[in-house]
Amino acid sequence: MTYPNTQLFIDGEWQDAADGRTLAVFNPATGKEIGRVAHAGTAELDRALAAAKKGFEKWRDMPAIERNKIMRKAAGLMRERAGDIAQLLTQEQGKPLAEAKGEAMAAADIIEWFADEGLRVYGRIVPSRGNLAARQMVLKDPVGPVAAFTPWNFPINQVVRKLAAALATGCSMIVKAAEETPAAPAALIRAFADAGLPAGVLGLVYGTPSEISNYLIPHPIIRKITFTGSTVVGKQLAALAGKHMKRVTMELGGHAPVIVAEDADIALAVKTAGGAKFRNAGQVCISPTRFLVHESIKNDFAAAMVKHAQGLKIGDGLAEGTQMGPLANPRRVTAMAEFTEDAVKRGATVAHGGARVGDAGNFWQPTIFTDVPLEAKVFNDEPFGPMAAIRGFNTLDEAIAEANRLPYGLAGYAYTRSLKNADLLARRVEVGMLWINMPAMPSAEMPFGGVKDSGYGSEGGPEAMEAYLNTRAVTVMNV
Ligand code: NAD
Repeated sequence: MTYPNTQLFIDGEWQDAADGRTLAVFNPATGKEIGRVAHAGTAELDRALAAAKKGFEKWRDMPAIERNKIMRKAAGLMRERAGDIAQLLTQEQGKPLAEAKGEAMAAADIIEWFADEGLRVYGRIVPSRGNLAARQMVLKDPVGPVAAFTPWNFPINQVVRKLAAALATGCSMIVKAAEETPAAPAALIRAFADAGLPAGVLGLVYGTPSEISNYLIPHPIIRKITFTGSTVVGKQLAALAGKHMKRVTMELGGHAPVIVAEDADIALAVKTAGGAKFRNAGQVCISPTRFLVHESIKNDFAAAMVKHAQGLKIGDGLAEGTQMGPLANPRRVTAMAEFTEDAVKRGATVAHGGARVGDAGNFWQPTIFTDVPLEAKVFNDEPFGPMAAIRGFNTLDEAIAEANRLPYGLAGYAYTRSLKNADLLARRVEVGMLWINMPAMPSAEMPFGGVKDSGYGSEGGPEAMEAYLNTRAVTVMNV
């Protein structure tokens, strides 16, 4: 399937930048340029802002049931087109076709759940303390036009989590998706346009990320900011948003601990956490990374993980049977080399992998380190790649302390057959999402987000709707 050039979507029209600027898009499996994406300047951003204001006024006033119909139609189009969209996603991002198709299909589920949740945005009536004639009302209103900034690891999912909640509450949104993976988000926006979304309700821009965020965040039309990406950039954008008193949701980096207790089912832990580790080549904010394994089972666990990694088929995501594709960009290959060099220098053992695969594309071997010292970079900085780092522990308290040592607090995993252990872990591990005896299973209806340096706000469940709503109090005296 050919790969298209991607245009900007402003005020219901697909268009190039007025000055014709574009950026190259590369296939990470070959390193070759496959297309171009339009680069917005201030003129395009001004038009996108004016359209978002106009679109908001229209969408806000549309009955929720009408909004629901358009959103459900867009979800249906995503399902119908998932096979074609997956081809685009794999070409620009690298993940295996099945994972890409799964991402497009999951988008439909997310849109539908939020569309229906939008039917239930209710206020409430609160009895007055003093005067029975006073009618106290709590009203929920959409916050206004939103600016959303999303990364390249899940080019559709990261956008749809934001826009489904925003649209369901009646907000308009300008999306700045990742320049490295522009076609899949454009296909998502196209599904809404084809479903009859009024012009201006959704905009899509690409360009220089810092220029766009520096322009949109302070702009008076924008009332809310939502960002998914690294903690470093998230802190910069949150500070700018704070300066301009804008509502913020931040879904940032993680460094997920996996606690494998003495009484764990090792096979289950390897199958689920090991499987999850190499999904999307580890470029997942909730990817399991710090494997904390009880000393008595550490060697068995490490051996099983190595066997799992050895069995993975690495290749172009478009090729039949590929289980792990390339990293999304050359920066990640450089990062993997740095993490490996540092781990080895500090005394860790490379039990598997630890090197680039071939010299075309951004392939890196699934990598397993054992006996990793706490000071190793891989145990402190988010690797965002196919790397599992294993360390032993003796008591569960020790493992929990290590899990909580880092400033991150996004996802965590644990394996134990004991209810007492599971309860202790649920209470003590400082993460926004904890999965025990299972792989991560994010869904539209469950909260998704972190604590500590992993950000604030949620991108799932009713909490995700609240992020796009203002709560106002209106009291009417019956005179
Ligand atoms: P990066 O921090 O430069 O970029 C991450 C994303 O943020 C990109 O999509 C980028 O376009 C965007 N971005 C960067 N600066 C921005 C700005 N000033 N305004 C608006 N958007 C901006 O890093 P990268 O090299 O692309 O990715 C590396 C790191 O980012 C990873 O190691 C990982 O920690 C993090 N990351 C996290 C997620 C996630 O799901 N939480 C996704 C992608 C990347």
